[in-house]
Amino acid sequence: MKINVITIDGPSASGKGALALRIANIFGFKILDSGALYRLYAYFFKMNFSPDEIISQINMNIIFNNHKNRLSIIYKEDDISSELRSESIAKLASELSSKKEVRDTLFNIQRNFYDGDILVADGRDMGTVVFKDAKLKIFLTASPEERAKRRYLELQNRGQEVNMPALIADIKKRDFKDSSREISPLIPAEDSITIDSSEMSLDEVFSFTESMIRKEFN
Ligand code: C5P
Repeated sequence: MKINVITIDGPSASGKGALALRIANIFGFKILDSGALYRLYAYFFKMNFSPDEIISQINMNIIFNNHKNRLSIIYKEDDISSELRSESIAKLASELSSKKEVRDTLFNIQRNFYDGDILVADGRDMGTVVFKDAKLKIFLTASPEERAKRRYLELQNRGQEVNMPALIADIKKRDFKDSSREISPLIPAEDSITIDSSEMSLDEVFSFTESMIRKEFN
């Protein structure tokens, strides 16, 4: 049986997060940013918590706050969203995400986000592994150069030093790692719809998905 989930998978900086948030906010659906869970895992790993402790920290002390078109992550009353978005956490998250035990533990946390109400879940393996039985699956991609450009603007807005050639190289390296890993590689689900957003704005991508969502979920 199909479940009430919209999965949005794709490489880093393809716009998955922004699209998921737009869909969730316009339709009033729940949201799961699975990349944030991998980043949280890395964040607590860096603080020397054991795997069991990491899970209880995530389950008991983390709040996902969807407010004013922004998904913030609160840890014991502190907003740690910016820290989680840093390149060092992203790198560690990507390394840890190739480990089976990390993926297995996060699998349960991710599944628990679904309680029957419509959920939008974005990540790398939402449609292929975690929510295989989702009603609607989207694979959102864009060229590495375009994604590097978006990431450049995002980092610049946050006042961080950025170097474009290094960013492109980094994105290609992370793509390769994410799509060539043995478990849960980044590949489109067979029953997914691929959208190449290289030449599309967020509004255009949203409009494209809107009719599919209305058709699937009335
Ligand atoms: O999407 P985001 O960049 O926040 O994800 C951080 C890292 O977590 C990615 O580089 C990827 O390696 C990993 N990840 C994953 N599976 C997911 C979501 C993220 O392996 N479903």
